[in-house]
Amino acid sequence: MHSFNLLTRRSIGLIAQATTLLCLQSTSVLAQQTPAQMIQPKPAEPATIAAQARLKQSLPFANKDDFDDARYGFIDTLPDALITGATPYPAWSMKPYAFLQKETAPDTVNPSLWRQAQLNSIHGLFKVTDRVYQVRNFDISNMTIIEGDKGLLIIDPLLTRETAAAALALYYKHRPKKPVLNVIYSHSHADHFGGVKAVIDEADIAAGKAQVIAPDGFMEHAVAENIIAGNAMSRRAQYQFGALLPPGEKGQVDTGLGKTLSRGSLTLIAPNVLIKQNMEKRVFDGIEVVFHLTPGTEAPSEMNMYFPQFKVLDMAENTSHNMHNLYTIRGAEVRDGNAWARYIDEALGAFGANSSYLIGQHHWPTRGPQKIADFMKKQRDMYKFIHDQSVRLLNQGYTPNEIAETLQMPASLANEWYDRGYYGTLSHNSKAVYQKYLGWYDANPANLNPLPPVEAGKKYVEYMGGADNIIKRAREDYKQGNYRWVATVANHLVYADPSNREARELAADALEQMGYQAEAGTWRNAYLFGAYELRNGMPKINPPSSLTADALQALSLDMFFDFLGVRLNAGRADGKHIVINWQFTDTRQTYVLNLENSALTYTSGKAADKADTSLVLDRPTLNAIMLKQMTFPQAVQSGKIKLGGPPDKLVELFSMLDEFNPMFEVIEPKKAAPK
Ligand SMILES: [Zn+2]
Repeated sequence: MHSFNLLTRRSIGLIAQATTLLCLQSTSVLAQQTPAQMIQPKPAEPATIAAQARLKQSLPFANKDDFDDARYGFIDTLPDALITGATPYPAWSMKPYAFLQKETAPDTVNPSLWRQAQLNSIHGLFKVTDRVYQVRNFDISNMTIIEGDKGLLIIDPLLTRETAAAALALYYKHRPKKPVLNVIYSHSHADHFGGVKAVIDEADIAAGKAQVIAPDGFMEHAVAENIIAGNAMSRRAQYQFGALLPPGEKGQVDTGLGKTLSRGSLTLIAPNVLIKQNMEKRVFDGIEVVFHLTPGTEAPSEMNMYFPQFKVLDMAENTSHNMHNLYTIRGAEVRDGNAWARYIDEALGAFGANSSYLIGQHHWPTRGPQKIADFMKKQRDMYKFIHDQSVRLLNQGYTPNEIAETLQMPASLANEWYDRGYYGTLSHNSKAVYQKYLGWYDANPANLNPLPPVEAGKKYVEYMGGADNIIKRAREDYKQGNYRWVATVANHLVYADPSNREARELAADALEQMGYQAEAGTWRNAYLFGAYELRNGMPKINPPSSLTADALQALSLDMFFDFLGVRLNAGRADGKHIVINWQFTDTRQTYVLNLENSALTYTSGKAADKADTSLVLDRPTLNAIMLKQMTFPQAVQSGKIKLGGPPDKLVELFSMLDEFNPMFEVIEPKKAAPK
């Protein structure tokens, strides 16, 4: 009896949270706050209108080739691309984006971003060439469908089951209903696999009738990239994708890479064919594919694909119609621009001359060898430029902000629409290069140990003559259009006193104008969501965990214990020494979990002689507990977990684990002090 009574509700909840959140979670909406309660966005200021006009002068808007390419081969679509889901909100709909049909950008949207947002609104089923089709803008990513001898091969089944099902149904409406025999995941990001269960049957895979093909390392990275820092990434992703902002001329218009994330259920089927050899040639159902592995580029596990029969080159997400991210502002490890450029060059050399169609898993195709070669070269050179020029300047002693301010793309690259910074920007990508080689510290000892934001904010306000004086001066700067500076000083004001309404509004106004001017969809989203939270406070939502049963099953035990470690509250663990043996009967894995010196370590393949207690269980039981399908006491009571000693120490350990709050302050001081 005593064995489970001591396990409190809290400890159950804590272990249930042991893994959380893939980054690309399908987000809920700002439903709780009615428009009447919300402080409405403001119009564009004269300085913003002038900036938009200057940009419009500088870019080749008369060139409409991209619109032709984005519409080429159009077959059919759904009205407004409306895809209903299980929630009151559709899984996908272009209806809220109808405002983008206006030819000219309003003053509140950067005209170059407006153009990209229009291109990303052209949705439906498209024929690329005989036997090769794409469904575009039914989600943030593309589904590519290739017709084999007996069935279909699908590359990247979108982010959610709902949108993938709708995309395939639209294809079947116009083409023979052949079964899907093969699925290829181009890389390990969720918008390229999450809808898989809508297009292929797991039983067929088990029976050897169907295959899922992926680059080496796919499963580890698909699950791993967003576990350890997943809670922070999810919150930050709200800023990057703007999914909580209402779409509109003063709201969300695009992410640059595509419209937004679909809302629905994420699934995952483990691949049963891994591509491990570079330039490996395989035949699936009569379709020849040459796989070009590109690890450590846009994703840690990624590959390009060349289809010689159709002269189609699929560059996955290694080329796209925008500058991609060497650093993604939701937060992630930085990517290597040098390697990225090299892999594009390899693909160009190997396949470029024999390609009539270049497709990607985002955006629209490029047609004809000459255009393809130009496109690949200038995408390659864009990443090479960012890398090399950032390194050149850092070797001259320049620091991240200075490099970002100095660098300018040559006109030959900057005038190509597909090299514009709609998703990544030259500014934050150059800082990513600095980070890759030199890290966060700029070597100026004044920045080695500065005061944290609240203390610094209070001092700034005091030295600058008090809040009222700062606001007066900042308003003048605001009128002059010096929004970056106003945002900086207003940020000090908010950190010094988050209840200062005037300061919050001034900070919001400055961010908003920067959002209106931003060419990057990601920056616009970040600025406008920052303005939203300064004005209205954090949305009162409880974001759903996107931890799916599929992802959970794929989580390695090492990763599970790593994640327990990062949740350990050092203060509560101070002075404690706890040793627990874990034995998994089905997978025949054993672990010793050791708490000592406020650090949680583990050793696999061992059992400690003098453990405080031991747990004997199987993996499905652990999964069920993590998914909250079963409580820890229930598992003990039903015999699914056998405890080899008193549970006190186990309970004590669970009580030391933090539960991460999915909504934490970003633009103002944390309300709760660090524990
Ligand atoms: Zn993607």
